Amino acid sequence: MWQVTTQLMDGTAVSNQLLADVARRSRRFLEQAGRRPCLAAVLIGDDPASVTYVKMKRDRCEKTGIDSRLVELPAATSTSEAVSAVQGLSDDLGVDGILVQHPAPPQVDERAVFEAIAPAKDVDGVTMHSFAVMAFDLPGLLSCTPGGIIRLLDAYEVNLAGKHAVVVGRSPILGKPVGMLLLARDATVTYCHSHTRGLSEIVASADIVVAAVGKPEFVRGDWLKPGAVVVDAGYNDGNVGDVAFDEALGKASLLTPVPGGVGPMTIAVLLDQTVTAAERGAGLLLGADAT
Ligand code: NAP
Repeated sequence: MWQVTTQLMDGTAVSNQLLADVARRSRRFLEQAGRRPCLAAVLIGDDPASVTYVKMKRDRCEKTGIDSRLVELPAATSTSEAVSAVQGLSDDLGVDGILVQHPAPPQVDERAVFEAIAPAKDVDGVTMHSFAVMAFDLPGLLSCTPGGIIRLLDAYEVNLAGKHAVVVGRSPILGKPVGMLLLARDATVTYCHSHTRGLSEIVASADIVVAAVGKPEFVRGDWLKPGAVVVDAGYNDGNVGDVAFDEALGKASLLTPVPGGVGPMTIAVLLDQTVTAAERGAGLLLGADAT
């Protein structure tokens, strides 16, 4: 029986470093452009979790010198009303980034609303344009949770080249793009989903596991290869991730806690990309920052 010393990947600490850099760049933007970067959040309906997420993101904006604008639309909003609200923000020169909080109410075609976001303002990385940027491995705005996962792996100096990465989940804003970003780093990527056969055996062959399922403690400790790097992107009621945390301790070499792992990285990447979008919009990106 293998026993591995598990190191936790501290997303709060790594995100705080990133947020300090965001605050520095926000101040520089204010000096050079004469205004603060601005993130507009669109909240459709009053789903309590969505209200909390948007509030957390706006609080972080305040702390890093980013203006935040909140557009609240009623729960009965139609797709065309939501699209036109987002188009207005896309055309607004005072808005640098747009976040449409997921999930939208069921009568709203969320994809249509996402596609109303101007690509240059897609700081949450939800449009087809951003998806293509990630698929083609081009410079641009990334889906925030996948981008945060890669930054966390980089912070812990995880070498991805040649490693077998197994992504459990294939949603368009999490599972699929994180697999594309891992592929761009030369990992060999396997996607698993609800029709996958032999899931536990596939996970057992992984050097890197990304759990993005939306089911509490779905990935079990005895599925893991000893020494695997385990990233838990899940967030379920009661602060529970998609990995059975206690079972993964002693099996994983690196493991993200929930909370305090992927979650804070997601918000930090959102704000980082908002400042990047502002800098690009104002033509202020210079030298090494111009990626
Ligand atoms: P989602 O859209 O519901 O996708 C879930 C994925 O899991 C789907 O691809 C689904 O497969 C797959 N799946 C479901 N049951 C499965 C099973 N029995 N075996 C294998 N795969 C299965 O969820 P999401 O938006 O990607 O979110 C996933 C998790 O990440 C959630 O816990 C969410 O709260 C969390 N999340 C966290 C953050 C953050 O900032 N930390 C951000 C976004 C999401 P099919 O495609 O076949 O249905």
